[in-house]
Amino acid sequence: MPEPDAGVLARRGDIVAALRAIVPGDGVIDHADALRPYESDALTAYRQPPMVVVLPQTVEQVAAILRWCHANRVKVVPRGAGTSLSGGALPLADGVLMGMARFNRILDIDYADRLAVVQPGVTNLAITRAVEDAGFYYAPDPSSQIACTIGGNIAENSGGVHCLKYGLTTNNVLGVELVTIEGEILRLGGRGLEAQGLDLLGVVVGSEGLLGVVTEVTVRLLPKPETARALLIGFPTVESGGKCVADVIAAGIIPAGMEMMDQPAVHAAEAFVNVGYPLDVAALLIVELDGPAAECSHLIDEVEAIALANGAVSIRISTDDAERAAFWAGRKAAFPAAGRLAPDYLCMDGTIPRRCLPEVLTRMRALSERHGLGVINVFHAGDGNLHPLILYDANQPGQLATAEAFGADILRLCVEVGGVLTGEHGVGVEKRDLMPLMFSPADLAQQSHVKSAFDPELLLNPGKVFPLLHRCAELGAMHVHNGKLPFPDLPRF
Ligand SMILES: Cc1cc2nc3c(=O)[nH]c(=O)nc-3n(C[C@H](O)[C@H](O)[C@H](O)COP(=O)(O)OP(=O)(O)OC[C@H]3O[C@@H](n4cnc5c(N)ncnc54)[C@H](O)[C@@H]3O)c2cc1C
Repeated sequence: MPEPDAGVLARRGDIVAALRAIVPGDGVIDHADALRPYESDALTAYRQPPMVVVLPQTVEQVAAILRWCHANRVKVVPRGAGTSLSGGALPLADGVLMGMARFNRILDIDYADRLAVVQPGVTNLAITRAVEDAGFYYAPDPSSQIACTIGGNIAENSGGVHCLKYGLTTNNVLGVELVTIEGEILRLGGRGLEAQGLDLLGVVVGSEGLLGVVTEVTVRLLPKPETARALLIGFPTVESGGKCVADVIAAGIIPAGMEMMDQPAVHAAEAFVNVGYPLDVAALLIVELDGPAAECSHLIDEVEAIALANGAVSIRISTDDAERAAFWAGRKAAFPAAGRLAPDYLCMDGTIPRRCLPEVLTRMRALSERHGLGVINVFHAGDGNLHPLILYDANQPGQLATAEAFGADILRLCVEVGGVLTGEHGVGVEKRDLMPLMFSPADLAQQSHVKSAFDPELLLNPGKVFPLLHRCAELGAMHVHNGKLPFPDLPRF
């Protein structure tokens, strides 16, 4: 992370006092013990207590804090629930951590227009809970949905098992209220499907807290499908499972979800939830189909035929909602289940063309042997989004560095076969220094010009997403000629 600014640290007392003047009561936290819970997000390998935490409750407070921090050159890191897996909410030693937990109200539900207006600290699942009795739901469903907030979802453009058919966060958000670092309150998008002018909402979704603080969100609500049924399909090889995934999509079928687990993941999940997963298969595929009952039955027959043509050795088809939920239970618990296999794991997030699934999984096994660390695979197979979980023990000297090197090799492999560095977890700190693998200096310069248009002094969430240029040079990802860095106009974080 960027070196802390000694001048800012020396002003800590004044900064805390200024924040207390804006947010009275217990909304400012500065005691060392009370700062500890904020020292990391879900990428716990990286930790840094913030200089101070502020918990505003109104948009006016957010604007006043940002305006003050801008005028006094103090950095700000926004935070939702802290479930980011890429270190997006990692605090700064010389920065204010702005927690949005008190923005936790659902402001409006409009079934006629099929939308809900919510504050950013509302959890993803709370939106569905609020509308399900009326037959509606909010489609993007990260596995962390019980805890993660809609503000964090916007910042990471989060996905989930149902995003194959219904789209990511960006496809399900209609508008946001955003406060810039200068304290200006903007409204981007709205309640309709189209807004005038440039698609700035599209720029903000996935911007990882670098462009502004989201203070209100308007999301689309979808009617619950009439029927949903799932198939649990076992394959003798990962390759045959991967081929089945490609064939389902090639047949023009878009399942509501299509998730795969390799054998170590199946064993870990089954030991954790006991839902009857077959343990003798090399790969397990869960395919969910939804819609009118007749359409569902027809598609189930088609998927079953495709699976059998690809050598499936076991097929179960859910007969009721309880059985369908049981099929998903192991997949949804795969991350905590991995926690039983090793003291620590790194969850990677790369995306590849679907046809490369067998090749990438085979090469990942070779990388696992080379690095001497185990890996289990759970992934959104339908959209080629891999989540390898690298198992390691942080108490063993050097194992974190080995796990990081293994993870970087996996992401290099994803890019090499034509994929991308991230599917849904964001770049954050984790993949920051790998950005030059995918983007040329000119690409990165254009992206940082967008950042500078919102935040010219680079005070919002610095050290995330954009590679630290000296690190790129060290890692050989940038050509430094005669000691001169290319693109000297690129902001240095
Ligand atoms: C067990 C587990 C399973 C997960 N499964 C999935 C999954 O299936 N799919 C998926 O996509 N992700 C998944 N994640 C990752 C994570 O839950 C998502 O990235 C989520 O969107 C983060 O939300 P949060 O509220 O925790 O945000 P935080 O972790 O607090 O912050 C994430 C980023 O958002 C920014 N931010 C937060 N709030 C705001 C705001 N109001 N305005 C501006 N910026 C803001 C932060 O600065 C940071 O950059 C999983 C994580 C865990 C731990």
